[in-house]
Amino acid sequence: MRSIDEQGYHFEEWLTPEQIAKDVQQVAHQISADYKDKEPLFVIVLNGAFVFAADLIRALDPSIRCEETFIRVSSYYGMQTTGQLQFIVPLQQVVENRDVVIIEDIVDTGLTIHQLKAHLRGLGATSVKTATMLFKPEKLEYEDARPDYVGHEISEEFVIGYGLDFDGFRRNLDAIYKVKE
Ligand code: 5GP
Repeated sequence: MRSIDEQGYHFEEWLTPEQIAKDVQQVAHQISADYKDKEPLFVIVLNGAFVFAADLIRALDPSIRCEETFIRVSSYYGMQTTGQLQFIVPLQQVVENRDVVIIEDIVDTGLTIHQLKAHLRGLGATSVKTATMLFKPEKLEYEDARPDYVGHEISEEFVIGYGLDFDGFRRNLDAIYKVKE
């Protein structure tokens, strides 16, 4: 089993590239079926989702006519239950009357997706769904952020690789690694 040391933490390989590829295929299959008569707009959440998104959109059925755009947001939890969503890279595409699919790397508390969905609906999107490589169901605090398409569920552990970072590093790993105590 492969392992990585980063900033004093030890990580062990959890999802191999082969397992990730299977998860991506399964998500792509579902999206291809659900959007076969539509023209989805994928909103890819930077920075982490770019790796998953690149694999996912290429695994879709070739008959799917889709577009992609990017957004980068930052959530501030502060002392309040609803954080402020700050747009570091704002949306550059019209979402009005579009079937939007947000692509995320991981859904944890769901705050990011909760706020992003409200934002996209406010801009007039016809529908807003979420595809994520990983989902931590035990951590979910916003029910409306429960993702529609999930590559793999994970409990509360911290993971890196396949787009997921540790202070900006290790996104390039081709597998997903779990921290070991
Ligand atoms: P949420 O808004 O759902 O609480 O948080 C989502 C964001 O938290 C993800 O896009 C990611 O940046 C970060 N995050 C949550 N869990 C993990 C994890 O296990 N590993 C890494 N690298 N980032 C995580």
